Amino acid sequence: MYLDLRDVSEKSECFERTYVASAFTSAKEDYLVKDDVSLVFDVRKIQDKYHLVGRLVTNLELICCRCLEAYPRPVDSAFDLLYLPQVRNNGDGEVEVEETALAVAFYHDEEIDLGQLVREQLYLSLPMKPLCVENCLGLCPICGINLNRDNCQCSTTWHDSRLAGLRSALDKR
Ligand SMILES: [Zn+2]
Ligand SMILES: [Zn+2]
Repeated sequence: MYLDLRDVSEKSECFERTYVASAFTSAKEDYLVKDDVSLVFDVRKIQDKYHLVGRLVTNLELICCRCLEAYPRPVDSAFDLLYLPQVRNNGDGEVEVEETALAVAFYHDEEIDLGQLVREQLYLSLPMKPLCVENCLGLCPICGINLNRDNCQCSTTWHDSRLAGLRSALDKR
């Protein structure tokens, strides 16, 4: 999953790559990649830098943080990256970036690691709080039932018993 930079010129060129979902399946991640990852980008050489502008499209499966059910999440993310040679960063520690609006990444050995690009874009597309639906009701804290699908009798009695406890505590004073 590398882009050979010797193929890239100062003329903007379009590249298209498709990777199988399993290439990005990892037990370390909080997501599952369900569909092929489609990567389309324009790349242009600017002296020793490479400017990549494109988008990534796929489908993920996330786990809802309230009800713990898996749910699908489509990803369609645009990226605009300026790749600098790795050595420059190690050198004087100063990275001068003229185009401040761009995100900066690094390449080495005349290659850009597109697998890393994909993983970073997937990571950036993840919500802070994954929710299957905006108003997911979550799990009942007493019986653990999924309140999106079923009702239980716990919730009302739960509130009542808490109030009763409070009330008796107040009575004792
Ligand atoms: Zn949910
Ligand atoms: Zn319950």
